[in-house]
Amino acid sequence: MTIQQNVDLFPYNTFGIQATAKYFTTIKSVEEAKSLFASEIFKKEKYFILGGGSNLLLTKDFDGLVIKVEIYGKEIVREDDSTVTLRVGAGENWHAFVMYCVDRNYGGIENLSLIPGTVGAAPMQNIGAYGVEIKKNILGVEAVEISTGDVRYFDNESCKFGYRESIFKQELKDKFLISSVTFQLTKKDHQFNVSYGAIDETLKQLGAKNLSLKAISDAVIYIRSNKLPDPTRIGNAGSFFKNPSIQADLMDFIKKDFPSLPSYPSTNGLVKIPAAWLIEQCGWKGKTFDNIGVHQHQALVLVNYGGGKGEKIWELAMKIKESVKEKFNITLQAEVNVI
Ligand SMILES: Cc1cc2nc3c(=O)[nH]c(=O)nc-3n(C[C@H](O)[C@H](O)[C@H](O)COP(=O)(O)OP(=O)(O)OC[C@H]3O[C@@H](n4cnc5c(N)ncnc54)[C@H](O)[C@@H]3O)c2cc1C
Repeated sequence: MTIQQNVDLFPYNTFGIQATAKYFTTIKSVEEAKSLFASEIFKKEKYFILGGGSNLLLTKDFDGLVIKVEIYGKEIVREDDSTVTLRVGAGENWHAFVMYCVDRNYGGIENLSLIPGTVGAAPMQNIGAYGVEIKKNILGVEAVEISTGDVRYFDNESCKFGYRESIFKQELKDKFLISSVTFQLTKKDHQFNVSYGAIDETLKQLGAKNLSLKAISDAVIYIRSNKLPDPTRIGNAGSFFKNPSIQADLMDFIKKDFPSLPSYPSTNGLVKIPAAWLIEQCGWKGKTFDNIGVHQHQALVLVNYGGGKGEKIWELAMKIKESVKEKFNITLQAEVNVI
């Protein structure tokens, strides 16, 4: 394990922000993680765990140690006629893993095709898209405790998954390095999820004759490629804010002035409002400010057209948040991790 100094983080974040890490290292195994956590440099420096950098906004240089997780490998730990259980290294690319499963007819995560990032970050915020959240297929998460080097296994319940949440983003934030994730997937009788309207339409448009994991994955890839900016061309970190959940009486109140307010049932009797709609109503969609802005087709995605500064993107996010609060009395929460 080598520790580099003054490393440019530009290639390591999909927002394409130029920032420097004082120290930078990669972890290729649980053993390497343990010896890093026991090292002198680790005890002295603050640290940040990095996956694919696709849910990250760097607002300044990082005055500490960035630990990039590169633990690879996929292993079938159990298999019968109907299900397969796989343990997957945290550093594996998420989309490549989805494709691996689709190719082998392992069902459950096809709706999560083309989400950037790593397998290890998937449980962090319980990634979700097109009517599916990863919590439904996670059996458990193996993680190394940073203060002790002990390896702990969190079963699905102990991960405390919620909407873009888990214990690793809350009580245990920065306390564990996720080393592998164990998934259970179906081999037959797949539960296809096409509840999200656009999937059904796209399947028809693409001429899919029968429902299959591949057809759904292709439809999701098609929708995403047409709707979301490709981070290799325009810097972004996907949805910048979470969709807020509000009380039904606040929704009724807002609906008096905005009858077209869209809403979906949420948990605990709350209703979920698309943050993109709120931001659009405040007039932000498509706005640019020098080399940063709000994407023209998706108001929830803040973009860096090249050379934008993280702190400027954060300032823009705060202005958006204030205007939504002022107009709707709804407080937006960032989904992106801000450093
Ligand atoms: C174009 C685009 C579209 C997106 N669409 C979606 C979407 O549909 N749904 C969705 O949920 N997300 C979406 N995202 C957000 C992002 O892709 C996911 O959150 C992804 O899981 C982040 O993975 P990462 O490896 O890049 O994590 P990073 O950005 O590197 O890290 C994210 C957080 O996880 C922590 N972390 C990362 N790896 C580990 C580890 N091994 N152990 C402990 N902590 C770790 C980091 O410290 C950080 O706090 C999108 C992003 C982009 C750019």
